[in-house]
Amino acid sequence: MAEVLVFVDHVDGAVRKPALELLTLARRLGEPVAVALGAGAGRTVGVLGEHGAVRVLTSEAAEYGDYLVVPKVDALQAAVESVSPVAVLVSSSAEGKEVAARLALRIGSGLITDAVDVEAGAEGPVATQSVFAASFTTRSRVSRGVPVITVKPNSAPVEPVAGAGAVEELVVSFSEGASGTRVVSRTARESSGRPELTEAAIVVSGGRGVNGAENFAVIEALADALGAAVGASRAAVDAGWYPHSNQVGQTGKTVSPQLYIASGISGAIQHRAGMQTSKTIVAVNKDEEAPIFELVDYGVVGDLFNVVPQLTDEVNARKG
Ligand SMILES: Cc1cc2nc3c(=O)[nH]c(=O)nc-3n(C[C@H](O)[C@H](O)[C@H](O)COP(=O)(O)OP(=O)(O)OC[C@H]3O[C@@H](n4cnc5c(N)ncnc54)[C@H](O)[C@@H]3O)c2cc1C
Repeated sequence: MAEVLVFVDHVDGAVRKPALELLTLARRLGEPVAVALGAGAGRTVGVLGEHGAVRVLTSEAAEYGDYLVVPKVDALQAAVESVSPVAVLVSSSAEGKEVAARLALRIGSGLITDAVDVEAGAEGPVATQSVFAASFTTRSRVSRGVPVITVKPNSAPVEPVAGAGAVEELVVSFSEGASGTRVVSRTARESSGRPELTEAAIVVSGGRGVNGAENFAVIEALADALGAAVGASRAAVDAGWYPHSNQVGQTGKTVSPQLYIASGISGAIQHRAGMQTSKTIVAVNKDEEAPIFELVDYGVVGDLFNVVPQLTDEVNARKG
């Protein structure tokens, strides 16, 4: 059976959720072969096998941590040459997209980025993308070489399914460019304890209607009740009420969670561009004419300071 390479995003052996989502998509195209690189790669094998990986190619060379992306591209190229896959799937993180683009160039293949779905087609995998601020949905197929496709987090469910999970050492000879950019220091980001915005299954966002940094506690309380990440509109971020790293939209982050709750956000096109592919959208806005209501699945016309705490209490009560 045809094999599909899945590039595994992990932190010291802890596999990140988007990698497991890629395994779900890979199984539609063939047998998933996972590639895990860097420190702790060997520890990914169990969980990858439990999510359908038939083989896991590992390489723990120090180069992956010491230098930026080129060693990873070298390794993926080696994996492509040894496996001859029908496709290579990579998560749409900033690093994932850089690795994917460099790999496609190296192996002379076409590249599709930011897919929100991938399915088997008669002439190769077909990827769905949501483009132009989600105004259009396109379906495309790579017509040259081994398709390299990056997929946005939350585009597929995580499905536990037993795979053989056989471990194999990936033999990589690093290119001259591999040591071109050395990592000189690393500083861990202060953790909020909440999920990463672009990977979260639920995002709760606040906008200008939140009306002050201190009021974001209302948004955070709902997010914590739901185990969600916190997002913000540019208006809220520019006002200094929430960090820029949490901005959702055209010039912020693109999120595609199962559930997106927008409070006090009008729904400007630039904000929509970052959240419109969310599976279920809920808005709380006191203006019933707000454009956000054009795209919601559920809308509440009301004051967020009245509605959101009630919702938080209800969620907490049901959990209890
Ligand atoms: C080049 C460019 C790039 C941009 N990129 C981004 C981007 O990445 N992300 C982004 O978000 N924006 C972006 N913007 C800005 C965008 O155009 C909007 O200005 C911005 O999204 C508005 O933010 P907002 O909805 O929070 O504020 P507003 O548009 O002011 O809306 C506030 C809403 O809150 C409601 N409200 C007020 N009080 C309450 C209350 N108590 N309860 C309930 N509702 C209440 C109001 O009815 C209103 O609908 C960009 C703009 C440009 C030109």
